[in-house]
Amino acid sequence: MKITFPHIGDAHLIGRIFFTEIGIDIITPHANTEKGLEKGSEVSPDEICLPFKLMLSNLMEAYKLGADTVIMPATMGPCRLGEYGELLKSILDRKGYSFQWVLLDSPNSIGKQELLRRLANVVSGSNKSLPGILTALIRTYKIIEKLEKLEQKAHILAGYEKKKGECKKVLTSCRRDLAQASGISQALKIIRHHRCQLGEITFDFNKKPLHILVTGEIFSMIEPFANHHIEELLMDMSVSFEKRVTLRWWIRRTILRSTNLKGSINLKKKRLPYDIGGYAKETVEDGELCVEKGYDGVIQLFPVGCMPEIVAKAVFSKMMKEREVSILTVIYDEMGGEAGYITRIEAFIDMLNRRKSLEQKKKREIYNRKVKGKTHVLSGH
Ligand code: SF4
Repeated sequence: MKITFPHIGDAHLIGRIFFTEIGIDIITPHANTEKGLEKGSEVSPDEICLPFKLMLSNLMEAYKLGADTVIMPATMGPCRLGEYGELLKSILDRKGYSFQWVLLDSPNSIGKQELLRRLANVVSGSNKSLPGILTALIRTYKIIEKLEKLEQKAHILAGYEKKKGECKKVLTSCRRDLAQASGISQALKIIRHHRCQLGEITFDFNKKPLHILVTGEIFSMIEPFANHHIEELLMDMSVSFEKRVTLRWWIRRTILRSTNLKGSINLKKKRLPYDIGGYAKETVEDGELCVEKGYDGVIQLFPVGCMPEIVAKAVFSKMMKEREVSILTVIYDEMGGEAGYITRIEAFIDMLNRRKSLEQKKKREIYNRKVKGKTHVLSGH
C-alpha cells in the first residue's frame, strides 16, 4: 500500500514523518503550482471551487509516482467539500487513476467505530504494534501543536523585529529541516531548535505594529499557494497577525470534537445562526472578535465560488456599516498574477497604519492637554 493525500499546508511534512515512523510507504504530494492547477482545471467541473482542482492535480501526480491509496478529509456537506471525496473518486476512476479511498469523516457523521475501522485500514501495513502506532499518532499531534505554536509566535513577533525578515527566515528554515526529518524525535528536536532561534532574535517592543486577524475558507488559510503566500507578505510588511482556523483546530474539531477556537467569545450566534458549511460561522466570529478585542482589522480569504464565505462576506458588509470594523475581502481566482492582490493588501495595511498613527496622535494630544492642565493648577495660575 502506497498512501497519498492532497497537498494542504504543512500536512505533507507531518504526514511523511508519521507514516515513515510507522513504516508505511507514502508518496507526499509536491507543492502546488500554476501548471498543476491548469491540469486539475482541465478535468474538473467548471463550477467547482479552487481547492478541488488543486487536489485533483495532486492526486493525478501522486498516482504517476506510484501511490495507490488516497486519504481524504471529508465533512459530509453541506458545502461542496462534502462531495469532494465522491466526485474526486468518480473523475479519477473515469480517467483510469484507480485508487483505494479512505475518507476521514467526522465521528459525528459516520460514528466512532467506522472512523476507527477506516484508520485501522490505513495503518494495516505498519510494522509497529497498535500501542506503537498510537504513540506515534500522539507524538505526531505534538509536532503539529508545536509547529503551530512556533508559527503563531513568529507571526506576532514579525511586527516587532528590529531586522526585517528574521522571523520568516526561522519558519522557512524549520520547514526545510522538517522535510528532511528522519522521524518524530528528530522533528520535535528541529522545532525546539527553531524555537530557540526565534528567542535569539532582537525585538523592539516599543513598536506599535498593526495587529490583525486573518480569516476565511480553511484551505485558502492553510495552503500558501491558494493564498499567494499572504503570511509571508504580511511578515514582510511588519504586521503582527493571528489566524484561529488551523490544521490542528480542524483535527480537534473534526476528529476530537473539540470546537472551541482560541479566544472564542459568546456571540449569541446572532449574525449567522445556522451552519451553512465550510467555516463561515468562525469567519463571522472573527469579525466580531476584531471589534470586541480591539484588533486593527480583518483580512478574509476565500477562493472564487466558495458558497459559505460569500455569505460571511455579506454579513461583513452589514457589520462594517453598523460597527467600526475594517475588513478586507480577498477572493482568489485561477489567475496566477499576484500584483493585483498584493496592491490591495498593501493599500489596506497602509490605510490601517495611517488610521492607527492618527489615533495615537489624538491620544497623545489629549494626554498632553490633561498633563498641561494639571501643571497649570499646581503652579497656582
Ligand atoms: S468551503 Fe468553500 S472552497 Fe471550501 S469546499 Fe466549501 S465551497 Fe468549496
